[in-house]
Amino acid sequence: MAEYDIIDHEYDVVVVGAGGAGLRATFGMVAAGLKTACVTKVFPTRSHTVAAQGGIGASLGNMAEDKWQWHMYDTVKGSDWLGDQDAIEYMCREAVPAVYELEHFGVPFSRTEDGKIYQRPFGGHMRNFGEAPVQRACAAADRTGHAILHTLYQQSLKHNAEFFVEFFAVDLLMDPEDGSCRGVIALDMANGTIHRFRAHQTVLATGGYGRAYFSCTSAHTCTGDGNGMVARAGLPLQDHEFVQFHPTGIYGSGCLITEGARGEGGYLTNSEGERFMERYAPTAKDLASRDVVSRAMTMEIREGRGVGPNKDHIHLHLEHLGADVLHARLPGITETAKIFAGVDATKEPIPVLPTVHYNMGGIPTTYMGEVVRPTKDNPDQVVGGLMAVGEAACVSVHGANRLGTNSLLDLVVFGRAAAHRAAELVKPGTKHKPVPKSADDLALSRIDRIRNANGSLTTHEIRSKLQGTMQNDAAVFRTKQSLKEGLDKVSEIAGLLKDLKVTDRSLVFNTDLTEALELENLMASALATISGAEARQESRGAHAHEDYPDRDDANWMKHTLAYVDHDYKVTLDYRPVHTYTLTDEVEYIEPKKRVY
Ligand SMILES: Cc1cc2nc3c(=O)[nH]c(=O)nc-3n(C[C@H](O)[C@H](O)[C@H](O)COP(=O)(O)OP(=O)(O)OC[C@H]3O[C@@H](n4cnc5c(N)ncnc54)[C@H](O)[C@@H]3O)c2cc1C
Repeated sequence: MAEYDIIDHEYDVVVVGAGGAGLRATFGMVAAGLKTACVTKVFPTRSHTVAAQGGIGASLGNMAEDKWQWHMYDTVKGSDWLGDQDAIEYMCREAVPAVYELEHFGVPFSRTEDGKIYQRPFGGHMRNFGEAPVQRACAAADRTGHAILHTLYQQSLKHNAEFFVEFFAVDLLMDPEDGSCRGVIALDMANGTIHRFRAHQTVLATGGYGRAYFSCTSAHTCTGDGNGMVARAGLPLQDHEFVQFHPTGIYGSGCLITEGARGEGGYLTNSEGERFMERYAPTAKDLASRDVVSRAMTMEIREGRGVGPNKDHIHLHLEHLGADVLHARLPGITETAKIFAGVDATKEPIPVLPTVHYNMGGIPTTYMGEVVRPTKDNPDQVVGGLMAVGEAACVSVHGANRLGTNSLLDLVVFGRAAAHRAAELVKPGTKHKPVPKSADDLALSRIDRIRNANGSLTTHEIRSKLQGTMQNDAAVFRTKQSLKEGLDKVSEIAGLLKDLKVTDRSLVFNTDLTEALELENLMASALATISGAEARQESRGAHAHEDYPDRDDANWMKHTLAYVDHDYKVTLDYRPVHTYTLTDEVEYIEPKKRVY
């Protein structure tokens, strides 16, 4: 291996990622007096959070009565009873102060006539334990993520947070002695220098891995880098088989049309012009939760009632809402429909199709953000020095299916919780323990191997095979056969990484190198997904298994843990769901059949 010079940095905390979760954690840490570095592969305001449209959930009750206990009930039900109820209680209760905090930080929320934060209905959010839809999504038109991300970045600047922009985190520094994390190694993309960030806490806020699929709403940067790092450190990934398909990606491009469009009164029709959701979800109709709507759309298409020449998509109608409402409440998606579907949404329906949107699974954590690695005696054993927040993490508040608006909420609530926890755990300025030389090797040998990869297949070729297979075999509906074949194929594709070809050997903005590093992360994430799915013999939330159509609480109400080793072999294990609440202000919500 070539010799690499390493530039050293010492911080109390290093946060990897500058999306909503990373930024909220970063300035929370700084505000608590911790010397914190935020390392990010893209400029902070280009993180995928900027694309979030519809809203952030909180039971403010600005439009009609609402309670955090109702929000909790909806979230547990939405999760199909795979979510941890202590964590869900924490999130739904903290939602209200978290949104007011954002308001005071400067988020320009849309307003009601009397100046309160505007709230719209969203899928699966109901009043009085499932009675009828409630208006809970706090929105800044249909650019809520944009408003939140920019505000959080401004707060970070106000707190003088230190950023390392366009630094690509490669691998964690793990101490082989006690298994704890001591920091992270990153590559400065501008000049190829290698940086070692030593820290008492390393926080992974690297977002989702939607790009494991061919058609997704996520940015090209959503490649599960944190998940890959965790897998290579020998730690488990949790519940990866639960991948959310959003009902309304634009047919063809996959760009998102927010659920807020249905929240404002939009509805879906099939080729017969029928509002078919009334048949599948008589109460919530078009506002049933996402897994339910995506399956209904897929059924309509399968039964020959899709629209278009190939009968392979569905229509979303907004034209009846009128140009004024679209202009005030949904300006972004009106523009998106024009550009990506060539459709004037004020006059004609938008062609849509379920598209990969969100990863419920991720790095297992406690509700204070600490990463969990179960032991024989303790299923909740935490790993020293390592935290994860945001879409990269699996707390688990979303269980088998996330409700819309609960991700932006998850970012700020758990970003803040991680900062509180770090402030408890770390005394500012504590001396760093020495890191053994071997701890660097994982990252360095990986960079060296990929930079010099001299096989016959490009990153693009291997990635396309992976994305196509995931799209076909780990889809909205899954079968024994599709999952078995999918698992075999993805394992085979992982083997192709040995034959990778990287042509750019330079160190200046070598995207050939970083895309290959990302591909390895996608591979680990995808393998955990399809392995967990193949093993899970039931249907729950987003995992709709045609050979096992029912939920099986007796055998499967448990979290999957996938350990992906360096040869991409996967070992599965399981961990109990938390069937208790945090306080006695609310009772454990017993599992029951999920109808909308
Ligand atoms: C189109 C779209 C619309 C959505 N709308 C909503 C909505 O209305 N409401 C809602 O609740 N949710 C919504 N979601 C989901 C939600 O926006 C995301 O789950 C959330 O923004 C993820 O935030 P994050 O901070 O975890 O990660 P991201 O915002 O994805 O940020 C990841 C960060 O990690 C950094 N990073 C990654 N890898 C590395 C690496 N190797 N080295 C250094 N840095 C790295 C990146 O630079 C980036 O800063 C939407 C998602 C999409 C895709």
